Amino acid sequence: MKIEENPVKTGENYLRTELGPLADLDQYVITMPRGNREVRGKVFLGDLLGLNSMEVSVNKMAVGGGMPFLHSHRKNEELYYFLGGKGEFQVDGEIFPVREGTVIRVKPDGLRALRNTGDEALTFIVIQAQEQTLEAKNSGDGLVPDAPVVWS
Ligand code: ZN
Repeated sequence: MKIEENPVKTGENYLRTELGPLADLDQYVITMPRGNREVRGKVFLGDLLGLNSMEVSVNKMAVGGGMPFLHSHRKNEELYYFLGGKGEFQVDGEIFPVREGTVIRVKPDGLRALRNTGDEALTFIVIQAQEQTLEAKNSGDGLVPDAPVVWS
């Protein structure tokens, strides 16, 4: 199915949806503009949730799967956060293993690819955002109003 078909609930200051369990992520298929190639198990959240300062994808790469080409970016750095499975990642020809808990930042120019080398799905989140645009780090952008949290 296409992620665009997912219901999105909105409030004045939020948009939310349900992707379902990570294990079922391969129900989603996208068509990549490059080569009109179908990719199963990849969901971009940007359009769905109206993100405008970052793109986020949630990914389930099947056993034996891999990116069929190297790529870099024009302006965006990428953060890869691996949630499960085992694989290999390469940047500019340097190859290293990835597994649950591996976190990789790749600068825009880095030529990157990854593949699943394990016997289960490789799951990961990719966040991309324009390099050198973050103005407040850590919790520096947060505001805390003088009001209690109420859950009822
Ligand atoms: Zn990328």
